[in-house]
Amino acid sequence: MKIACLSGKGGAGKTFVAVNLAAAVETCTYIDCDVEEPNGRLFWKPEEMQTESVSTLLPQFDVTKCNGCKKCVEFCKFHALVYIKEKPMVFSEVCHNCGGCQIVCPEGAVSEVEKPVGIIEIGHHNHVKVVTGILNTGEASGVGVIKSALQKSSEMTILDCPPGSACSVMETVMDVDYCVLVAEPTAFGFHNVKMVYELVTLLGKPCGMVINKETEPYTPLEDFCKEKNIPILERILYNPVLAKYIADGEIVAEMVPSEKKRFATILEKIGGVL
Ligand code: SF4
Ligand code: SF4
Repeated sequence: MKIACLSGKGGAGKTFVAVNLAAAVETCTYIDCDVEEPNGRLFWKPEEMQTESVSTLLPQFDVTKCNGCKKCVEFCKFHALVYIKEKPMVFSEVCHNCGGCQIVCPEGAVSEVEKPVGIIEIGHHNHVKVVTGILNTGEASGVGVIKSALQKSSEMTILDCPPGSACSVMETVMDVDYCVLVAEPTAFGFHNVKMVYELVTLLGKPCGMVINKETEPYTPLEDFCKEKNIPILERILYNPVLAKYIADGEIVAEMVPSEKKRFATILEKIGGVL
């Protein structure tokens, strides 16, 4: 089973929920796909670390073969190519590595070279395999690193998604069985989680809501869940003791037995749906 934890914005508690769900499972893999800001490892403090580099393929051009037809430039719908000073030039930041320019070139002037874009760290914390995708600074797209990290999935995997609803989130949840939406009960939190809900609905994924840091129910969010028939898996009330554990980088499911039970119960509810 693959479960993804999503939120519309950073700070809603997505990593907190993902880490503690994983800690409540007998054996599982936790994958941090929030590759621009992977914070899960701060809780896990994984051991026996291994590192793998991640590269993508970029086109390179042989000017001695190029006839200047510009078919490659016309083909590239991402506008990653320009023809300048009588040769094609690629903007690596916007190239989506589709390989199309190589296919359309009539002269065989395009080949591909590897470009490092990030790393995957793999370690362990007790029964949890901890996989962390880390995007190199300055890289525009984390999709390549996310794809590599997802290859480390096991039978039971908890995914910590990037925040928001961009293509990196889509890549992360494409293959999951269930989505846990994590929202704060505020106007801002509600607005953001609605966008994430639209994405998971578009992809046909079953989902449920965890309302985090609740002081009192936020009516628009409550009404939205009722209207869309989204089960509220859990309400985590704001608790300064929990907040202190989190600030100290502790995994509450390992510290407080009732918290382990809380997250195990969420998993049981998800299991019941699936
Ligand atoms: S398609 Fe090939 S031959 Fe035409 S401009 Fe591009 S690299 Fe040159
Ligand atoms: S590989 Fe695809 S995205 Fe990249 S430059 Fe070529 S056609 Fe454009």
